[in-house]
Amino acid sequence: MAVLGHVDHGKTSLLDKIRGSAVSEGEAGAITQHIGATAVPLDTVSQMAGSLVKPEDFDLPGLLFIDTPGHHSFSTLRSRGGALADIAILVVDVNDSFQPQTEEAIDILKRTGTPFIVAANKIDTTPGWNPQEGAPIQKTYEEQSQRARSKLDEKLYEIIGELSDRGFSSDFYWRVQNFQSNIGVVPVSALTGEGIPDLLGVLMGLSQRYMKDEMAIDVAGPGSGTVLEVKEERGFGATLDVVLYDGTIRAGDTIVVGGANNPIVTEVRALLQPRPNAEIRTEKRFDKVDEVGAAAGVKIAAPDLEDAMAGAPVRVVGDRDLDEVIREVEAELADIEVTTEEEG
Ligand code: GDP
Repeated sequence: MAVLGHVDHGKTSLLDKIRGSAVSEGEAGAITQHIGATAVPLDTVSQMAGSLVKPEDFDLPGLLFIDTPGHHSFSTLRSRGGALADIAILVVDVNDSFQPQTEEAIDILKRTGTPFIVAANKIDTTPGWNPQEGAPIQKTYEEQSQRARSKLDEKLYEIIGELSDRGFSSDFYWRVQNFQSNIGVVPVSALTGEGIPDLLGVLMGLSQRYMKDEMAIDVAGPGSGTVLEVKEERGFGATLDVVLYDGTIRAGDTIVVGGANNPIVTEVRALLQPRPNAEIRTEKRFDKVDEVGAAAGVKIAAPDLEDAMAGAPVRVVGDRDLDEVIREVEAELADIEVTTEEEG
């Protein structure tokens, strides 16, 4: 799932808070840091969410958070119809309500039909707020004065009104029966962690309900992914940070990558994943792996990647016809450019 929203509304803080509390649950394997994404396993989600997520109710491995996409991947997210993200979290600052990038995100979500929830962030800034570190929202509400509670409700109704103006019916998440026809609004604070148990609970519920079919990813097939970033790495030259959303990629595979001029055809020299707990200053920051299956983030080292573009498709050729795969990548790139132009 991807986290979208206007700048400064708290996307980074929210992800950091989720990662941070997962790690401070203290167990090894509490999270797995991928390239461009963070996987939080079911057990960790459950520990963080308390009674709101009972592991026995779910048959999902957990949640995969895609790091806030930069502008280019954001345009890809548009044109790919949500392939990058099955579910989105739209972060809205309760003090600022809707802003230009909120509008942009809403348009994309609407067009791609991506299910989403709204994280109404920074509830701790409500005048007179009495913070309850990490508490579920109902519990924290009980600790607030009548005045603080109605101040917050006022702001939340403003967000619900903004959504309604754009054709979305929404409500406080605990009143929502059908998350497909009604957007759930989850009050949270990335600072105090209040409401984060609720956010995780809603995300798990949504994933379980609406992603079942899409979760049946064909891991066996040739890999498909999207470039998040093109980065120089010492010893490897230009490398790609990729979110692999389908299939498998192996060292030695021939891949086609969208480039600034023409599609790039190259061979995977190494697949790299961040070394767990690597010290900033250690020489080896990555581990080489032989293969990676979707959904996952991975860094690809290969010759000739200098012209690769963030947001572009990556395809493993496998036993398909090379020209056919090149045409597929070209078609997808053309689609991205058209969509980006339309958006102005
Ligand atoms: P992004 O641009 O959407 O990624 O926003 P950031 O996560 O960088 O947050 C922008 C600013 O808002 C930073 O100064 C954060 O410390 C602050 N911030 C984010 N979430 C909260 C919150 O829940 N409460 C408060 N009080 N401040 C927050």
